[in-house]
Amino acid sequence: MKRTLFSTDHNIFRDAVRSFVRTELSPYHAEWEHQKIVPREVWRKAGEAGLLCCNLPEEYGGPGADWLFDVVVIEELAYAGISGPGFMVHSEMVAPYILAWGSEDMKRAWLPKMVSGEAIGAVGMTEPGAGSDLKELRTRAIRDGDDYVINGQKVYISNGQNCDFVLLACKTDPQAGAKGVSIILAEASREGFVKGRNLDKIGLKAQDTSELFFADVRVPVVNRLGDEGKGFGMLMTKLAQERLTQAVRSICVAEAAIDWTVAYTSERKAFGGTLSDFQNTQFVLAQLAAETSALRIFTDWSIAEHVKGELTPVDAAKLKLLVTDLHTKVVDQCLQFFGGYGYMSEYPIARAYIDARITRIAGGAAEIMKQIIARDLFAQKN
Ligand SMILES: Cc1cc2nc3c(=O)[nH]c(=O)nc-3n(C[C@H](O)[C@H](O)[C@H](O)COP(=O)(O)OP(=O)(O)OC[C@H]3O[C@@H](n4cnc5c(N)ncnc54)[C@H](O)[C@@H]3O)c2cc1C
Repeated sequence: MKRTLFSTDHNIFRDAVRSFVRTELSPYHAEWEHQKIVPREVWRKAGEAGLLCCNLPEEYGGPGADWLFDVVVIEELAYAGISGPGFMVHSEMVAPYILAWGSEDMKRAWLPKMVSGEAIGAVGMTEPGAGSDLKELRTRAIRDGDDYVINGQKVYISNGQNCDFVLLACKTDPQAGAKGVSIILAEASREGFVKGRNLDKIGLKAQDTSELFFADVRVPVVNRLGDEGKGFGMLMTKLAQERLTQAVRSICVAEAAIDWTVAYTSERKAFGGTLSDFQNTQFVLAQLAAETSALRIFTDWSIAEHVKGELTPVDAAKLKLLVTDLHTKVVDQCLQFFGGYGYMSEYPIARAYIDARITRIAGGAAEIMKQIIARDLFAQKN
């Protein structure tokens, strides 16, 4: 399908990213899956190649490019089945928060290092007792003079082992519910900040995902992003971009899975022909291709809206709901055509299948997407 989003400059950049993926990421990904982490050196190389935080302004060390350059990076990693490096969280979640709400000093201290890959960022919202219902989080940041003293625990934090700092969602006023939430930057070097286990996951094996613990961690008040008590609203604003970003990745994986399956079934011999001779193979893939094309159009429309600054949280929720659902369906139905090979980890379709499952949980579960959409529907009726 002809896409109209990208200019010649984006396409030249895409070639460079593809070449970086081919030489610096793909050959090592299986090894990183065993190690359960991507070495920091890879982040520095990605920074040098211009793959991190493409959208950041030049005054903070970024290339000052439009968000479509970030999209190119997400897409090329997705097409190649690279799920290890947590670039998406770093570039599409952490950097935008700091750019939008960080102090000038914070921006100058961290953003250039994020662009170069010298510093790695993480976002800490989820806790053992609070994921979907974030207003119930318990990590506290209590004011003491010019500091906050942070106590609590986070879980499932992407880049949790590699991170140099985490943007923490904390209760600065534990009595005030959602209105008591603030976002505070906590450096991993602070006393009392402990990185727990690198969690053992069923998929995304090369990505470090951790528990984090905070015991009387003192951070200066200037580490807070935006106003005290405004963190929940900030999370709601930026979660739309996270959901769009996930959809951008998911639709590419669906497209790639269909391509791999067409290639495989065209070669695989069975019953005197190839698997692609069966009408079942053709019809299943035709159906998946049609559904993927429809959601490719919705995704590209959403990207364009986001670039204009006009994508609504409700549309981002609709997109994530539908595309991640299709993503998991496509990889499941495509895997079937690979037979036993589809169950072997060295086959991209096997890894894509297992990596897909998280997309309907993280960044807001499918049910939370439906809640957001339904709330909007019924608000219009009342
Ligand atoms: C690999 C991985 C990486 C992650 N990375 C990060 C990260 O970097 N930072 C971070 O902060 N978090 C991260 N998370 C956490 C993720 O965002 C949460 O797991 C997710 O938001 C769901 O929260 P929960 O696990 O507490 O599930 P719960 O909130 O307990 O929900 C469990 C299930 O209950 C159902 N449910 C929940 N609420 C409703 C409702 N209102 N209506 C109907 N059904 C409902 C849904 O089916 C949901 O899946 C990550 C998780 C994983 C597994």
